[in-house]
Amino acid sequence: MRLTRYFLPVTKETPADAQIVSHQLMLRAGLVRQTAAGIYAWLPLGKRVLANIERIVREEQDRAGALEMLMPTIQSADLWRESERYDAYGPEMLRIADRHGREMLYGPTNEEMITALFRDAVKSYRDLPRILYHIQWKFRDEVRPRFGVMRGREFLMKDAYSFDLDEAGARHSYNRMFIAYLRTFARMGLTAIPMQADTGPIGGDLSHEFIILAPSGESEVFYHKAWEADRAAEAEGVDANDAAALQAFVAGLTNDYAATDEKRDDAREQAAGADLRTSRGIEVGHIFYFGTKYTKAMNMIVQMPDGGQVHPEMGSYGIGVSRLVGALIEASHDAAGIVWPEAVAPFKVGLINMRADDPRCAAAADELYGKLGIAGIDTLYDDRDERGGAKFATMDLIGLPWQLIVGPKGLERGVVELKRRATGEREELSAESALARLAG
Ligand code: ATP
Ligand code: MG
Repeated sequence: MRLTRYFLPVTKETPADAQIVSHQLMLRAGLVRQTAAGIYAWLPLGKRVLANIERIVREEQDRAGALEMLMPTIQSADLWRESERYDAYGPEMLRIADRHGREMLYGPTNEEMITALFRDAVKSYRDLPRILYHIQWKFRDEVRPRFGVMRGREFLMKDAYSFDLDEAGARHSYNRMFIAYLRTFARMGLTAIPMQADTGPIGGDLSHEFIILAPSGESEVFYHKAWEADRAAEAEGVDANDAAALQAFVAGLTNDYAATDEKRDDAREQAAGADLRTSRGIEVGHIFYFGTKYTKAMNMIVQMPDGGQVHPEMGSYGIGVSRLVGALIEASHDAAGIVWPEAVAPFKVGLINMRADDPRCAAAADELYGKLGIAGIDTLYDDRDERGGAKFATMDLIGLPWQLIVGPKGLERGVVELKRRATGEREELSAESALARLAG
């Protein structure tokens, strides 16, 4: 993509209304703009990051055996009356009337809708277990929307729902999602700690929040120092189809204490002793097992092989896809701007032509841009007629993993410069070697 044809409204000034660094950088780097309180437009660069996060989430859900679908944002109030949550949900729910005066709402979550859809289609034990998910916008009329996309009112969530015939099956589904979450966040370069959590209005008795440690986090968290190591790699060797092995793995992992403020455990904190750590954290995912809460209330019944009938056991599993954009920046930035982990970066390479007014330099940069395209390397090409300093500042701000710099002095010696954003390391090499390096 040529910057002269792109839409990238970057700013130098720190926006006064943005309190935390990720919110400031998202505005400055032209990722989002607020259009109403807690509601954001995703500009082209931000949309690419969102899409990359979605892709990783989707791949790991699919790998865990979950099936993607898409439910609407607008739901009927009657659906929520079935579970008796319509009145219980309170002012966080955005309630709407259509032209016929029918009561509708903008969905804050989808337990009711998925239960109704599954109930109406499934009558036999043969159709279970299943895990279904979608990636869809939610609306919650938060009292205090703040920190940009981290606590928005409209936000993008991946929500999955599991249906099983018994508790053992439901635990297996829960454990599958548990390791899918470890893998998902690790692929984004994040260390997310699964913490015992309160189940809140969703109900149920087994729940973990996946938390990223960051000083700007909204919740206070407590954990054993064992969690300071990156433990997601341990999940790679586990066979998710082997229920006993999976349960043993999750039990072993969660043996090391980690809990949110609401779920503090004095005994386990004391046992951790000097190894207990406390920090602030950002919740990027939350998983629940809540049994038959909705299938009972909404009368979902399946026939068992012995002629008996059961209410399926359910769990639900959320990931804050749009919140993750902010969380990733909180976890990875420096004084000059964002430092994207490669897996989520909007482009892999920022190509800088130092002298747009020098025909030789421009021709060399154009040629390199063409070759990067042929090699399938996502490149943002700063072909503007601007000072080199301004171009470097923009590239550092938007945080692409690699900068490839073409300047007249280097060209005389047959070299270009390759800079790694994360470390600032620079290296001179031939254009061919740079291409080979970036293609690898
Ligand atoms: P929180 O405790 O932060 O309010 P929650 O417990 O209400 O979150 P869930 O219902 O578990 O959230 O939603 C699943 C995920 O969606 C959360 O883990 C979080 O990452 C994300 N999320 C929830 N509320 C918001 C919001 N207002 N803005 C952005 N992301 C959100
Ligand atoms: Mg929560």
